[in-house]
Amino acid sequence: MNIALLLLRGAFRRGDAAPALAEGARVVRSYGTLIERVRRLSAGLTAAGVKPGDRVALFMANRPDYIEIMLATWWTGAAVVPVNAGLAPDELAVILADAAPRLIFTSPDLAAACPQGIAMDSPAWMALFDHGPGPVAPMEVSAQALAWLFFTSGTTGRPKGAMIHHGALMAMTQGFLTDVDTLPVGTPMLHFAPLSHGSGLYTLPCFAVGGTQVLPAAPGFRPVDVAALTEHWPGACFFAAPTMVRRLVQQARSSGILPTGLRTIIYGGAPLYPADAREAADTLGPVFAQIYGQGESPMTITAQSRDAFTAALMQEDDPFLQSVGRPFLGSDIRIADADDRPLPTGEIGEVLVRGPAVCAGYRNDPDATARTFGGGWLRTGDLGRLDARGLLTLEGRSKELIITGGSNVYPIEVETVLLDHPDVTDAAVVGIPHPDWGEAVTAFVASDRDAATLAPELDALCRERIARFKAPKAYHVRDSLPGNAYGKIVKRALVASVQSRN
Ligand code: AMP
Repeated sequence: MNIALLLLRGAFRRGDAAPALAEGARVVRSYGTLIERVRRLSAGLTAAGVKPGDRVALFMANRPDYIEIMLATWWTGAAVVPVNAGLAPDELAVILADAAPRLIFTSPDLAAACPQGIAMDSPAWMALFDHGPGPVAPMEVSAQALAWLFFTSGTTGRPKGAMIHHGALMAMTQGFLTDVDTLPVGTPMLHFAPLSHGSGLYTLPCFAVGGTQVLPAAPGFRPVDVAALTEHWPGACFFAAPTMVRRLVQQARSSGILPTGLRTIIYGGAPLYPADAREAADTLGPVFAQIYGQGESPMTITAQSRDAFTAALMQEDDPFLQSVGRPFLGSDIRIADADDRPLPTGEIGEVLVRGPAVCAGYRNDPDATARTFGGGWLRTGDLGRLDARGLLTLEGRSKELIITGGSNVYPIEVETVLLDHPDVTDAAVVGIPHPDWGEAVTAFVASDRDAATLAPELDALCRERIARFKAPKAYHVRDSLPGNAYGKIVKRALVASVQSRN
């Protein structure tokens, strides 16, 4: 198998003349042209020394050629190393040293930060298309062959390269089409989120149905940008992190611009709390689906399909909305104690997962691989519980569990309450070492209110909604909370910010 076969499949389903890649409203490649260019580029990569089993790194923001390079790399039997374009030079250097790519591609804006890369539109890039037409089909590789070497976001510690194989990407594609959204033939997929993360993988279910990959012509994620694209590409889907969803909803409400023609927004990567999910669906319509995954099992641990999500909203089924859904097609989930033994329904433990979409371990890191994947299960580091309906609800990261006065506090439970306050746009709850409590529950919220008046209101809300010992001992109000290049709140930075003041 080779995951790049999905490109040929898309062409069979829709025909060579169908649009495969677009920038804004403009089609830049038909299926026929894309296949021809991918074949040429694969011949160019081979001429430049790329062999099956090698790695090719991409350090660039979204652009149509990104998808061409991904496909051409797979065509040659090599693997893609997607690097987030927002990373700092030191972070990039760590990843490149570990991945040891044969070639690196970069966009002109990042060329100075990565002088060893081949910049898009440079003579070296153009010359790669000067080689023969290249093989008519992608190189046959095993389902276990490395396809996508994804470096974890590193909110804790050094990034590790999760080795995702062709079989895992096929399992992700199949499960998307059964468990997330059954895409009609020709569905457009909009890529607002970085192709170096989940959005890049969502090119695959789109190719499988002969769809069109649409890259916004200009950077931006405002209702007006989304509306312009969905009007031109009706029935479109896209992946968005919850922060993007919340921003879109707020702006749509204040501007009155409501994107029409949208089919599905798939969100994941962080929680979208029920109140936000309801507001989002009230504003944008019944368009939401959710996935839960991590770099080691990308987009594939659990899912809530668009239809199930919509039904839950109508039935006011809050436990469903609070959950991340049921196991993804082929994935098996266990809630386990510290010895990996299964815990009964309803009890909180670490979420373990195994199945065809789980990666093969970390590159160059047998110790971390044994710790995380030993015993045949991926230890996600997430805490969760399964209910009688088989729904998984996450309770936070195991490393984030706060133990205060001997009692466990799961940050997510407190964050959910804080986010229900209308003036709070983001919330993070952490444990700060404390002489009496062991750890003191401490809240950080993003708001434009001042702390003197907001903190008592938040305290009253917490005391009304959760046990007294869970209520934060201190509230810190900020304009915004620090995020990493992937949009996740960096709790370490928050803890450090108050510790350095003590
Ligand atoms: P990453 O490897 O950077 O994609 O981060 C994965 C982590 O994000 C998971 O281990 C979870 O802690 C969190 N996460 C992913 N999807 C969801 C979701 N749908 N709801 C809540 N948290 C999520």
